[in-house]
Amino acid sequence: MKLKKGTKAYSILNNRCPKCQEGKFWPTNNPYRNIFIRNVGNLGSCKQCNLKFEQEVGFWFGAMYVSYALAVIIILFSWILIRLIAPGTDIVITSSIISCNIILFSPVNYFLSRLCWVNIFVNYE
Ligand SMILES: [Zn+2]
Repeated sequence: MKLKKGTKAYSILNNRCPKCQEGKFWPTNNPYRNIFIRNVGNLGSCKQCNLKFEQEVGFWFGAMYVSYALAVIIILFSWILIRLIAPGTDIVITSSIISCNIILFSPVNYFLSRLCWVNIFVNYE
């Protein structure tokens, strides 16, 4: 299935600017590489359409709500997977595995939460 250009899902899943969907939002498509690039907190603006990604001061605080929702999805998915693979697993081991998954997927969570958040406020033109 190929995503249609102009949709929010296209922008989020292809790491594209929400306005023009040509320029990149994050410097690289790999969330784990982005955390090692300097000044990654300041994403600047789109190289194609010059859209300033940070709409106002403190704009990215809102991405925490998206991040929280994504973390809940990771928790539920991990818990269901543990229950299916090993039904009698101890609660301490289960919560340890879930905690490790949250930490392992935090760069992906960070990557997607900001993309989702900016896509809520900026539409394709
Ligand atoms: Zn753009």
